[in-house]
Amino acid sequence: MISLFDLFKVGIGPSSSHTVGPMRAAQRFAGALTRPRVARIRVTLYGSLAWTAQGHATDIAVILGLAGKNPQTVDPDAVGGIVARIKSTGHVTIQGQSIAFEPANDLILDRETVPPVHPNTLQFDALDDTGVVLERARFCSVGGGFIVHEDATEASGYNQPDMPFDFVSAAGLLDQTRASGLTIASVVMANETALRPRAETEAYLDQIIDVMMACVERGLSHSGTLPGRLKVRRRAAALHERLRSRESVNAQAAHGIMDWISLFAIAVNEENAAGGRVVTAPTNGAAGIIPAVLRYYRDFCPHASAASTRQGMHDFLLTAAAIGGLFKLNASISGAEVGCQGEVGVASSMAAGGLAAALGGTPLQVENAAEIGMEHHLGMTCDPVGGLVQIPCIERNAFGAIKAINAASLALHGDGTHHVSLDQVIRTMAETGRDMNHRYKETSLGGLAVNLPEC
Ligand code: SF4
Repeated sequence: MISLFDLFKVGIGPSSSHTVGPMRAAQRFAGALTRPRVARIRVTLYGSLAWTAQGHATDIAVILGLAGKNPQTVDPDAVGGIVARIKSTGHVTIQGQSIAFEPANDLILDRETVPPVHPNTLQFDALDDTGVVLERARFCSVGGGFIVHEDATEASGYNQPDMPFDFVSAAGLLDQTRASGLTIASVVMANETALRPRAETEAYLDQIIDVMMACVERGLSHSGTLPGRLKVRRRAAALHERLRSRESVNAQAAHGIMDWISLFAIAVNEENAAGGRVVTAPTNGAAGIIPAVLRYYRDFCPHASAASTRQGMHDFLLTAAAIGGLFKLNASISGAEVGCQGEVGVASSMAAGGLAAALGGTPLQVENAAEIGMEHHLGMTCDPVGGLVQIPCIERNAFGAIKAINAASLALHGDGTHHVSLDQVIRTMAETGRDMNHRYKETSLGGLAVNLPEC
């Protein structure tokens, strides 16, 4: 299994696979350089990274990573100044040494070469002053901000020999809950506690919740247009005003709560599109769904006390982490590999299971909710207009959040028995993603990306 510390990461927008992952790869490469005579750095982006580099801010991410910046701690407001300085000087400081790196020439978008292992591949070369390659590293950005060396098998925090609960499938997870009498959230917490003190995991959960809620608040307060040539108008602030003005009206529309859920998701994804601070959940493109559903749980569901609300939110995220981990392990959470079903679909499935757990669902009901959450996202393509994580991504998160709540509600009305298992839908998602034409997998070469004329 994958640790929730790996699945929920604080980062910056707009993309986990195209921004967070490449920044981490660049930072790792720069930090590991050992040769003293490095005169220039050259970076080559392949596949989906090359096709959507500017729209997904991969170029900026690489510059920041080489400069030693970390997605978790970099100040989003300082990014513009750092990047402008490196572009104007043509040099980046690595390990205290000024090394030539002119993004216009040294950041290459190779759209011809098909990367052999993963569609999101990037290569770093350290050159001497005659152009000879002294060091080279190739990384794959495999979704959700995870990176791996191209020739390495992926390591996961849970592949420890003495995990109390070992499972690689939803069926295995349910077996563990049956045998132990524990909830899914308790099983995940027991595994996390084998890695670090329980208090640390609880503090991390609180931090993740705080960052998610702060992102919603920032999104609600920002207006204007999003970066990029589409000039997409931010709507969360105006929509918020509108919804608040209706709070005092007696006759509320039955779908009024849905408007709030959409608003929360849109607020987060507008922040993400603007390069703000978000939590990968499990990716940045789908970062609005879990905060929106978590906020719905916090603000619209009845709670006995503040302590029970906090416990419910912890159970939500722990359960969502188990579900996201199963998708990552057995399918993919990368839009470049399996389309948007792997991002918005997975986030919706995680949120559905998380909400069902927080509302007291049994493990079977939670598994059912997660299954419904994905079943009705199967086949969803990734076709961001202009390569920007804006259209259809922002609204798509609103729909993913509403579907998640519907899925949890349907599951909680049943007894957990159902026809399609979560494992079957995960397998179906992986196979559908493999069969999907590459034009619909984060290349902006098909779908809305070609049918919507850019202004
Ligand atoms: S369409 Fe979906 S997978 Fe593609 S960039 Fe947007 S949110 Fe991510």
